[in-house]
Amino acid sequence: MDLQQLYRDALVWDAHAGVFPNPGVDLNLLDEWSASGANYLSINVGFDVMDWQETLATLAAYRHWVLQNGDRFVLVDGTDDIERARVEGKFALAFDIEGMNALNDDINMVSLYHGLGVRQMLFAYNLNNSAGGGCHDADTGLTEFGHAVVSEMNRVGIIVDCSHAAYTTTMDIMQASTKPVVFSHSNPSAIWQHQRNIGDDQIRACAKTGGVIGLNGMGIFLGDNDIAIDTMLRHVRYIADLVGAEHIGFGFDYSPDIDVDIGVILRSRPDYWPAGQQYDTRGIKHAGPQLLPALIDGLADCGFDESAIRGFLGENFRRVAAATWQ
Ligand SMILES: [Zn+2]
Repeated sequence: MDLQQLYRDALVWDAHAGVFPNPGVDLNLLDEWSASGANYLSINVGFDVMDWQETLATLAAYRHWVLQNGDRFVLVDGTDDIERARVEGKFALAFDIEGMNALNDDINMVSLYHGLGVRQMLFAYNLNNSAGGGCHDADTGLTEFGHAVVSEMNRVGIIVDCSHAAYTTTMDIMQASTKPVVFSHSNPSAIWQHQRNIGDDQIRACAKTGGVIGLNGMGIFLGDNDIAIDTMLRHVRYIADLVGAEHIGFGFDYSPDIDVDIGVILRSRPDYWPAGQQYDTRGIKHAGPQLLPALIDGLADCGFDESAIRGFLGENFRRVAAATWQ
């Protein structure tokens, strides 16, 4: 198997970036993804720490920028657009939202966001909200409003994402959804214990929906601030052994440096990143799509065949998107 050829030829899908959402972010940073060989990225336009109005302002700014730069970028409607972008040598992207505070308790906001290019949403960013429970908060489960949101996301065609939510909320979501459910950027806690990581029950339930778990590249979720290739391989192998290779992808949560000063908002709501969860680690390391060539070398050495590697790189997430977006 010629791995370099495979990498050039395969669909490469990154299910989530960790860029701090703000209308002032210069999206030329997306070039780092295309330069590393990625074809598609889901980039967040908001998370629960922000007011919903700031999410809309960020979405407006990003959407405008992407449409203005149509010579390099395609804003995805369905999976066909990703193929079209590859043929035209362009980079495909869609937007995601981390937490339902962005809905302002209004179910009609789901289809509005869909209409503006949002194709993936998660329920609660670390702390509880009106839709459900976050992973660093009391485990209270999916609310009645949260159930309505799952149905509406299924109806309009937005990928249902369980990352950042608490155990019971994730299990409720996976039972309620009629479409495959993902953990876009979460790692198995059997390999590294962290409240942001997920247990075997959650991984099995996700696989049962036909879903995918995206490997997160942040050092504190992989290990003791550890982004070694061998460490990432241990996470991938664990999920593959538990539920099969067709349920793994990448959601690196990677962010290049940005010019926007995010210190004010981070200091204003430290409760979203509680003490004892390694968020205060100095110099948190971060694996991004640049490591994919080395990672697929390692995956081949582990014995994964070409179709499994194509699955990890993008086909597994594409399967979920094809079942959801159309
Ligand atoms: Zn996240």
